[in-house]
Amino acid sequence: MPDAASAAELESLLLTRSLDDPELAAATDRAPDLRVLPDVSVVKVGGQSFVDRGREAVFPLVEELLEARETYRLLIGTGGGTRARHAYALAAELGLPTGVLSSFGNAVAGQNATMLGYLMARHGVPVVSGGGFEALPLYLAEVRAAIFAGMPPYAMWQPLPESGVIPPYRTDAGCYLVAETYGCQNMIYVKDEDGLYTANPKTDPSATLIPEITVGELIERDLPDLVVERPVLELMARARHVRSVQIVNGLKPGNLTRALAGEHVGTIITAEGTR
Ligand code: ADP
Ligand code: MG
Repeated sequence: MPDAASAAELESLLLTRSLDDPELAAATDRAPDLRVLPDVSVVKVGGQSFVDRGREAVFPLVEELLEARETYRLLIGTGGGTRARHAYALAAELGLPTGVLSSFGNAVAGQNATMLGYLMARHGVPVVSGGGFEALPLYLAEVRAAIFAGMPPYAMWQPLPESGVIPPYRTDAGCYLVAETYGCQNMIYVKDEDGLYTANPKTDPSATLIPEITVGELIERDLPDLVVERPVLELMARARHVRSVQIVNGLKPGNLTRALAGEHVGTIITAEGTR
């Protein structure tokens, strides 16, 4: 805990310095970080990987999530997938800006959250958005799970991409930021491939699986395409709590449950060192 002197010092720095001042930043770093929901796991259910494949993929995963809920507390985030890509294509062709595309992504991830919500409704699992997040601790304590749309609600305020108009912070980043904010135990991406490969295995048959890698190595390797959104790597490098994530193939039954148990079943990406 910060002592009285350091609290006074922080107060005086905050009142006198610019909020970008490095000494001020260091002073705000002195108190130990608080993990808000340390026994919760965030699970991202892919849009293309699952929802777009229909009941054949979705139903077994829903069953696995419901069973896992008996042992683990789950925050289930949703991806966008093909419908989001379709909307991005139309909007980009019309010359519309990133901020507009970002709200389309949000809408589609929201549709996928709604669909999962209806499928899990009879088990009491709620869909949360906006102010609903404030009731999360209650849902997680009572129902042990809640669903949310993975897209960060930046909408018009979405950070701009280096090139093109596709929003850089999409559902992988949104789910990651939820996990980091709540200081969650795990961030698991449930996708349709065994993990991260040296290239996109759907288009490059020579791609090989990388079972584990650090954020630094991954940035260094500058692979042509990744299984998670690139900004997740930058977020991880700055994170206080969620210093590793796992990507698993959820089309193989049991993989998600094993990852929740801490087993290495896909690709583990780890940020170097500690903060
Ligand atoms: P979702 O929308 O379901 O969360 P994405 O389609 O955005 O998932 O990302 C998963 C897809 O990423 C995989 O199906 C795969 O085709 C593709 N991909 C691209 N690069 C890689 C890579 N290096 N390793 C593995 N998968 C990759
Ligand atoms: Mg995606």
